[in-house]
Amino acid sequence: MTRTVGAQKSSRSKNRDYRSYSFWLETAGEELVPRASLRGPAEADVAILGAGFTGLWTAYYLLKQEPSLRVVVLDAEIAGFGASGRNGAWCNAAFPVSPGELARRFGREAARELLLEMRSAVEEVGRVAEAEGIDAQYFRGGQLRVARGPSQLPGIQDTYGSFRTLGLEEGLRLLDAEETARHVRITGAEGALYNPHCATIHPARLVRGLARVVERLGGTIFEQTSVTDYETGDNPRFVTALGGVRARTVVLAGEAYLARLRKLRRQVLPIYSLIVLTEPLSVRQWEEIGWEGRECVASNRYTVDYLSRTADGRILFGGRGAPYHYGSRIEDEYDQHEPTHEMLRRTAKEWFPALKGVRFTHTWGGPLGVPRDWMPTMSYDPASGLATARGYTGQGVATANLSGRTLADLILGRDTAITSLPTVNHEPRPWEPEPLRWLGARYVQRGLMRVDDRAEHTGEPPTGKTLAERLGKH
Ligand SMILES: Cc1cc2nc3c(=O)[nH]c(=O)nc-3n(C[C@H](O)[C@H](O)[C@H](O)COP(=O)(O)OP(=O)(O)OC[C@H]3O[C@@H](n4cnc5c(N)ncnc54)[C@H](O)[C@@H]3O)c2cc1C
Repeated sequence: MTRTVGAQKSSRSKNRDYRSYSFWLETAGEELVPRASLRGPAEADVAILGAGFTGLWTAYYLLKQEPSLRVVVLDAEIAGFGASGRNGAWCNAAFPVSPGELARRFGREAARELLLEMRSAVEEVGRVAEAEGIDAQYFRGGQLRVARGPSQLPGIQDTYGSFRTLGLEEGLRLLDAEETARHVRITGAEGALYNPHCATIHPARLVRGLARVVERLGGTIFEQTSVTDYETGDNPRFVTALGGVRARTVVLAGEAYLARLRKLRRQVLPIYSLIVLTEPLSVRQWEEIGWEGRECVASNRYTVDYLSRTADGRILFGGRGAPYHYGSRIEDEYDQHEPTHEMLRRTAKEWFPALKGVRFTHTWGGPLGVPRDWMPTMSYDPASGLATARGYTGQGVATANLSGRTLADLILGRDTAITSLPTVNHEPRPWEPEPLRWLGARYVQRGLMRVDDRAEHTGEPPTGKTLAERLGKH
């Protein structure tokens, strides 16, 4: 099917074509007919805002441990509408805050524990998908962080060094240019860091399958039901247009979209990540490129890029760089940003000359949530009945699984290894009010692009000392 995803959206319509929001939703293997909306008041033990990975993993682990719990999930659109149904397909143990910075902030042991739990999360996603019969196309190919040009070599060496300092280097390998080319042939690749703790998934099949499993376990999901406000304390509840949900615990699992709630406007910064996708490549084109191991691939730029090879033989090329929108606005139309999509198509062809003449069949995008210190939060306050997990900074597929297990343990009062991780009850300071937020975000976005471009042109690694790097690097 050749079309540009996103072109057919009818904003705010209840009849919107959810398949048009990403290639993944289009190929989810179902019609995406919305479930019933909430009509009238409801009661639950745990009410969850958001049927993405965070909300659904939380519901899943709660119901697995306490089958009698009344768990209600509310989504403003449908399960998987957000980033969970649109992402780059990486189920990755990487964490948004670098290993070295984690150790600096929380100490060596806490950093190690957290990173080991992230590795377990990658395995757990695959384990549950298989155990619950979810056709998530989970494929454990590992990850290659490629130094594209000499300026990026010190960065991957440093990353390897940080893992070694934490005693977590087992299985990781620094590859030279020749070894890298044996995995995948990318122009200008001078080396790579291979990390086995990464898999690819079909995001929409995973999130939609998870929703069905939650229902099978007794959870209730209401779709096209927007939470407009929430209350905590003696009477925790969600407010929606057609009725409230009272619960002992309310869980905020809306990631970037939480910025739309008045009480959370400054907690996460919605940053758009955009993706282009090729048509399936021919056998000859794949022979030229290699990539039989289907690793997740990225370069070592600050301005993030991420690639995956789909199960049906396409190249997905994603990247950040689309501008932050004033007031943390999130709109359907922002999913399409032609200058960024064109840059991604151009870059994909530079990386892989075999793509000459290949059609790009899909373009899409979506917002991800960035907290002020890039550190995800998994929190629960029994006194107020409020729980939340958010702030994945674009690394949320595996992290949301850890969030779900952590929130379930916290809500059920279980003291486990994961309930004392540094993410638990972490409280980043809020983002600045506008217009400072807009000025700062745009400054850092543009500044990091300039640093990347300069490094690529000169061959010299970034100094780490520019203002943009100090503000935007973690
Ligand atoms: C283009 C893109 C590519 C990405 N690539 C990767 C990747 O390759 N690997 C990776 O690890 N991470 C990636 N991420 C990030 C990752 O997808 C997210 O961190 C993760 O899916 C977040 O899951 P979530 O459930 O917390 O939020 P979401 O999936 O965004 O779900 C939030 C849900 O809440 C609902 N909602 C919001 N507000 C309300 C409300 N008021 N009332 C009711 N419902 C509401 C939304 O409709 C939505 O369904 C990417 C993100 C984007 C946008």
